[in-house]
Amino acid sequence: MPPVDRRQPVRAKSSESQYSLMEFLARYPDDESCLQELWRKRYSPDGEHAYCPKCEMERVFHRYETTQQRQSWSCTGCGHKLHPTAGTIYHKSSTSLHLWFYAIYLMASTRCGISAKQMERELGVTYKTAWRIAYLIRKELMGQDDGLMLQGSIEADEMYVGGKRRNGKRGRPGPDSNKVPVFGMVERRGQVIAKTVMDVKKATLMPLVTQRVLESSTVYTDEFKSYSGIKRAGYFHKRIYHAEKVYVSGDIHINTIEGFWSLTKRGIGGVYHAVSAKHLQGYLNEYAWRYNHRNGQAMLRRYFFGRRRLISGFLDLAILSSASSTSFRVGTGISNPCGVFWVGSFGLLSLIA
Ligand SMILES: [Zn+2]
Repeated sequence: MPPVDRRQPVRAKSSESQYSLMEFLARYPDDESCLQELWRKRYSPDGEHAYCPKCEMERVFHRYETTQQRQSWSCTGCGHKLHPTAGTIYHKSSTSLHLWFYAIYLMASTRCGISAKQMERELGVTYKTAWRIAYLIRKELMGQDDGLMLQGSIEADEMYVGGKRRNGKRGRPGPDSNKVPVFGMVERRGQVIAKTVMDVKKATLMPLVTQRVLESSTVYTDEFKSYSGIKRAGYFHKRIYHAEKVYVSGDIHINTIEGFWSLTKRGIGGVYHAVSAKHLQGYLNEYAWRYNHRNGQAMLRRYFFGRRRLISGFLDLAILSSASSTSFRVGTGISNPCGVFWVGSFGLLSLIA
């Protein structure tokens, strides 16, 4: 038997596991380690120096021991206090940071999402607390208003979420339908954007295309009439004629976005059962976030090539699920997942600046 390191289980080559619970716990064993992480990520890369807004310069910060250990660091020059949780979704929360981080881990690592009911059991909190935690993570950390731009080969399509069609008709619902329309665009082998929309008129969809797709990209759609302005907006436009039962013609298809829709629909149906129109965007954020972070290495390459992609909110979300399996193994010489952390701090700088 070849020598093995039992502390470093070997993953199957085909494994989708990127960051196991044990790896998470080794990195975040308690509340304090989570607070330290926030402190370093948000204010002080070396854990000691930080910019003091009052002194208007870099200062040494110290965490004074108090009976009730404060969650703040004090400037040794002027006494100004910095709170690592200020302005985040964890601020003044009665739930421990450790549980928050664990909730983020769960949401980032489960393939099909996790229900608030299961979150309640996993965290050992009330249903209300679990629901609120999941809601805030979806809304604030996984939000899609981050300026992500798509380029190259883009597939655009809409889907409809909500009550069942009567009389079993297929196709696009009529104007009196109470289904919520969702518009999505995906870059082939790249990232996805999915947004709820008021309607699927050309005047509604076209601005979304022009805001998020770089010029001279090729946009693939079906024959829906709302997409007729794409060519005029400066893109190459290729259509697939589903009505004529054509689904793939050479490179013309919208299978990528349809794959994302089916993943999302199955998830919403299976895990969340029914989602109200009000909260649908949150679930779309969650599915899009996981889709966009499915491959840590691909994400890293994007940063190298300077693509404009800011991580909104808390960086560890990115770290947690984009960490490649090798960089996280202790003892390989890269005990710190440098590459991944580099992505993280890059995102942070972009956020602060
Ligand atoms: Zn100061």
